[in-house]
Amino acid sequence: MEISFDHTTLGQRVLFGAGAAATNIAVALRDLGASRPLLVGGGHAAEVVDHVSEEFTVAGRVREVVQHVPAERAREAVALAQDVGADSVVAIGGGSATGLAKIVARDTSLPVVAVPTTFSGSEATDIWGMTEDERKTTGTDLRVLPRVVVYDATLTLGLPTDLAVHSGLNALAHAVDSLWAPRADPINRAMAGEGMRALVPGLRGLRADSADVRAHEEVLYGTYLAGVALASAGAGMHHKICHVLGGTFNLPHAPTHAVVLSYVAAYNAEADPDSEARIAEALGTPHAASGLWDLVREVGAPASLGEIGFTEDDVDLAAELATAAIPDSNPRPVSQDGVATLLRSALRGGGVRR
Ligand code: NAD
Repeated sequence: MEISFDHTTLGQRVLFGAGAAATNIAVALRDLGASRPLLVGGGHAAEVVDHVSEEFTVAGRVREVVQHVPAERAREAVALAQDVGADSVVAIGGGSATGLAKIVARDTSLPVVAVPTTFSGSEATDIWGMTEDERKTTGTDLRVLPRVVVYDATLTLGLPTDLAVHSGLNALAHAVDSLWAPRADPINRAMAGEGMRALVPGLRGLRADSADVRAHEEVLYGTYLAGVALASAGAGMHHKICHVLGGTFNLPHAPTHAVVLSYVAAYNAEADPDSEARIAEALGTPHAASGLWDLVREVGAPASLGEIGFTEDDVDLAAELATAAIPDSNPRPVSQDGVATLLRSALRGGGVRR
């Protein structure tokens, strides 16, 4: 088969090691020539913050981080970084802390060191998001891509198990959905495959024992690969549907992803046997969609969209909005009727056939 593609790998340093966050943040800052970081977040990593504060002059601190990056808070953080003469940003936290740091980087060009404490994967992307007047705007900008990511599996140990599992399932959705995204290519598909192979056992391990550092490491490693795959390939049908369900119908982000994923995999299975095989192989199951459904149920997530607030009355509008947003790259042609049928199945729950 002929191989032909156009792939860009984003440049980023990754320092990975359990218990090594403080050391690795210091390495990262010194190698960037930085000495006056603005510290964003850190509420779930007090010891690491103490170490950074001992070794560097923390120029300013944004302790409270609000979800979805409200524009007002973002402007305050940008002004603070400028007023205190920060030469870098260290973000310690989940996607919300990384998201705020990204806006500071977008508006000041300061380098970001991201230290994730969830499995959001935002640290691997050049995508920023900000909310103003209840509307979320997103964009891509290379300045927001963290220059260094510091992964330390002891930092995610504090996550309540349900939050950890839901966050890890989101990472799995990044990997799966990248397979049929607009810029999918052999390189980002390889990363997605390896990401899934790490995330599946890691998620099972987390559910079995949330204090298992090895399981946290596997999920973090898979999260990074899945984030890189998504940043490179773009978002596909799954993310477009979930975006509509969250944005227009206010469904909770993580459980929505968990419910919808197996239905999208079932929708695309026959039209894209290669992706179906990759997902099934990572799951160790004969079929992708039913394997995803079983995994999601096994590690603990809602069984239907009905359980999390979606109703029959919402189906037609949701299908119309999602159909308009789903990229042409989707392997199976997308029709409003097809998406409505998918949503009705997910509304009822009960699983997918294969
Ligand atoms: P979050 O950062 O808001 O964290 C979720 C909750 O977990 C918060 O209450 C937080 O305080 C808590 N928390 C974080 N770390 C913890 C820890 N170690 N122990 C205990 N509690 C902890 O949300 P998130 O789920 O990490 O990320 C979601 C956000 O990231 C969304 O706004 C989403 O849009 C964004 N996101 C962006 C991208 C991108 O590429 N730009 C990618 C994925 C997600």
